[in-house]
Amino acid sequence: MFENLNSPVQKLNIAPFSNLWVKRDDLIDPYISGNKWRKLKYLLQDAISKGKTHLVTFGGAYSNHLVATAAAAAKSNLRATAFVRGEAVKNEMLMLCTLFGMKLIFTERESYRDKVACFEQYFSKDDTAYFIDEGGASTQATIGCAEIITELPIQYDHIFCAAGTGTTAAGLLKGIQQNQLNTKLHVIPVLKGGDFIQDEMAKYVSVSAHLTLHTNYHFGGYAKTTPALIQFIQSFTATTGLLIDPVYTAKMFYAIIDLQKQNLINKEDKILALHTGGLLGILGMKEKFS
Ligand SMILES: *Cc1c(COP(=O)(O)O)cnc(C)c1O
Repeated sequence: MFENLNSPVQKLNIAPFSNLWVKRDDLIDPYISGNKWRKLKYLLQDAISKGKTHLVTFGGAYSNHLVATAAAAAKSNLRATAFVRGEAVKNEMLMLCTLFGMKLIFTERESYRDKVACFEQYFSKDDTAYFIDEGGASTQATIGCAEIITELPIQYDHIFCAAGTGTTAAGLLKGIQQNQLNTKLHVIPVLKGGDFIQDEMAKYVSVSAHLTLHTNYHFGGYAKTTPALIQFIQSFTATTGLLIDPVYTAKMFYAIIDLQKQNLINKEDKILALHTGGLLGILGMKEKFS
């Protein structure tokens, strides 16, 4: 299922940009969406090569990673279990996980913090179990994300991506370095205090001058929104026909447009925005759009 693919790169007509493009990783798969497909690709290969048939992973109740892992496991004929942070809840995302056959173990926040301990407590005797960290964070994930760069049809002046753990950004930076591009990588942390993303990236790649973090576009923190962000999503979607999610990609697109307004990027520059998918995230905020 992880055959090579080139997700399309499409031009976005938003004034005043003349060279703004989007890499549509959101089109890869509706459930194994965007960067989660990239991150799981080599993790599943590693699991299968080690004879592991049971994926065990971690996430919050609205985690795109959990849905992606559940769907990827089902397609690959593997079992999947997730430790879900917090008390037992029901929602659309977890319903999909269950439909794909994933087992859910709701885990209170204190014990959830020690993921290795959770894994050991339940699966130390299960030789088929394969540990996948929250969000798929791993070296394998960065290798999958570096392939995004290899697929690009032209050289861009700037590439933008949203960051939660920074693993995707680390992979992109790795790809830029490996292909010896002059492209600048702009990373938009979606959490408050996003400077930590640089340390996370440094676990996987040497942080070079290609990288700029823009830490002021978190809109209050992870999964937080403001009326201005909701309004932005509404008008962006209505004028471009491109859906974006409130947690990640909306903050990235807002940043691109705002940085141009401040003349920190040039409207003629070749700019690529990575659409990392995650559109099911809209379901968690549906009341904000009604
Ligand atoms: C998970 C996710 C991200 C964050 O990726 P990291 O590698 O954790 O930084 C970005 N965008 C979307 C849509 C996601 O689902």
